[in-house]
Amino acid sequence: MTKDTSQLPCPSCKEPMRPEWHRAIEIDRCPACGDLWFDRTELTTYVADKTPGLGKVMLGQPRTVPGGPDTSLACPRCRVPSLEPYEWDGHRFSRCTSCSGVHLEGTTLDGIIADIEGRLQREKGSATPSEILFWLLFIAR
Ligand SMILES: [Zn+2]
Ligand SMILES: [Zn+2]
Repeated sequence: MTKDTSQLPCPSCKEPMRPEWHRAIEIDRCPACGDLWFDRTELTTYVADKTPGLGKVMLGQPRTVPGGPDTSLACPRCRVPSLEPYEWDGHRFSRCTSCSGVHLEGTTLDGIIADIEGRLQREKGSATPSEILFWLLFIAR
């Protein structure tokens, strides 16, 4: 099964995004501004792949940022302004209310990965297993 990712317009600058492969995960990156697009579940798979042991740390749920969907940014799949802003631990991203795809800046993704890795490090040697919260399942639902 292949999907058409040839001409997904960047939500920020409308430049056609380019597909990239990270092992079995396909993501789309804007060659102009570096923004990223993950289809539903792709971000979950990507972050889980980057941070083994993720299920052992408590992450907490992202919060919606007041203001509702950002009417200036269009979902590259749905082609309508349906991107709802979220915040997790200071990291801002947006998710399509229709297809659940996630749009974020490349540096934001790096920050999220670094934060999760830091938490995993701190959890090492902890005697009690951490509570599991499904941040990533939230993203993927
Ligand atoms: Zn762009
Ligand atoms: Zn969408």
